[in-house]
Amino acid sequence: MGKMLSNTRTYRVPPLIKQDRDRRFAAEGNPFEAMMSRFDEAATRLNLEPGLYKVLRAPEKQIIVSVPIARDNGEIEVFTGFRVLHNTSRGPAKGGIRFDMAVSLDEVKALAAWMTWKCAVVNLPFGGAKGGVICDPALMSDRELEKVTRRYTSAIIDTLGPESDVPAPDVNTNERVMAWIMDTYSMHKRHTVTGVVTGKPIAMGGSLGRKDATGRGCLVVTLAALAKKKMKVKGATVAVQGFGNVGSTAARLMSEAGMTIVAVSDKSGGVYNPKGLDIKDCLKWTGEKKFLDAYPKGKHITNEELLELKCDVLVPAALENVITSQNADNIKARIICEGANGPTTAQADAILDKKGVYVIPDILANAGGVTVSYFEWVQDRGGYFWDEKTVNERLEKIMKDSFAEVAAMSDEHDVSMRIGAYMLAISRVAAMHRMRGLYA
Ligand code: NAD
Repeated sequence: MGKMLSNTRTYRVPPLIKQDRDRRFAAEGNPFEAMMSRFDEAATRLNLEPGLYKVLRAPEKQIIVSVPIARDNGEIEVFTGFRVLHNTSRGPAKGGIRFDMAVSLDEVKALAAWMTWKCAVVNLPFGGAKGGVICDPALMSDRELEKVTRRYTSAIIDTLGPESDVPAPDVNTNERVMAWIMDTYSMHKRHTVTGVVTGKPIAMGGSLGRKDATGRGCLVVTLAALAKKKMKVKGATVAVQGFGNVGSTAARLMSEAGMTIVAVSDKSGGVYNPKGLDIKDCLKWTGEKKFLDAYPKGKHITNEELLELKCDVLVPAALENVITSQNADNIKARIICEGANGPTTAQADAILDKKGVYVIPDILANAGGVTVSYFEWVQDRGGYFWDEKTVNERLEKIMKDSFAEVAAMSDEHDVSMRIGAYMLAISRVAAMHRMRGLYA
């Protein structure tokens, strides 16, 4: 017993990572507060009944679990994991799982609520959830990562299921992690259940088109915004923060659509070329060298400078809280397409509104990913798989229709696209609650 105890320790967030997170959130609120301030404004404008207001603010279920594993050196480590189901009135809870040192219950709660609103904005029959484990996969072996994934899955297994709660990849999780979750769940159920997660490998019931879906959705809504603002597509200048799945796909598809990508960045910094960057070449570079900091064909800029560049479209596709009251006034883009979740604080929203910047809010702009996750779930349940052209056409239709519905709501109530999107989402979820009534 003594040996066992001396071998056990609880993983804590390292002070530097905690400091960085606290610094970003301290000034203008953590993501949960940011989400709630928009919810409150939209709910007030909708004259939401006080009882329903209380129901929709409260997450349905918050699970905190310990995830003990034996590391490769024999030492036992105990990680902390979360799964929050915000609202399941419209269907199974849907939302990613992130493995990151900055994960916290507040963050997971905000992201779960965002998923409820996002699924409702694009009218999917899903509710919202999110999960996370406080850990750094970069500091773990493959075997350790697999153990964390399987132990976390078994700890939250009572909530999971194709009819109840369907995870997907998020920060630092990928199709391999989804395969482990699917296998662990299937082993417990004694039969294969592919529909319990989305974002799986194609050969395992994943959907064609899922990888590009979020970036493709960003392209569709940006084209719609350019048309609404009567701006030309060809030659429209674009700056993209984040060159991962969302940012690099959005940059590639936007350049293929004729736009000029003047800057891209990742966590190592950014590159700027007013004449336009060759995105395929940037992708080749990051494929080989990983980061953009030594990319030779452009001027090197910081992530902060990228946000303030003169351009037509800005795509923040990396982190939360990067556009704040500190820099919102310096933003020169006419359109912001929020590829990331929560890149703009509520305080910054007010400044951007006043400046007339057209913000396509996250819950609409990056909903392409969950839309194709929905297609994957539908295909798994039907056991019949679509070709990529069909997936992309159906995605495009949903994104275009949803943009038009949000724009109509924001025009009708004379509010920003963000508040319009929240109003549309809340009205759909509230309508379901009114029809279902209160079980008690
Ligand atoms: P990713 O891990 O593939 O890429 C993240 C990118 O951001 C990387 O290029 C990384 O270097 C960069 N980055 C990290 N820290 C940074 C910093 N401090 N400054 C600037 N850049 C930094 O992640 P992703 O899947 O592209 O997700 C990005 C954002 O989009 C997240 O907010 C995520 O929640 C959101 N999102 C993703 C999807 C999806 O389908 N992948 C769907 C909806 C929303």
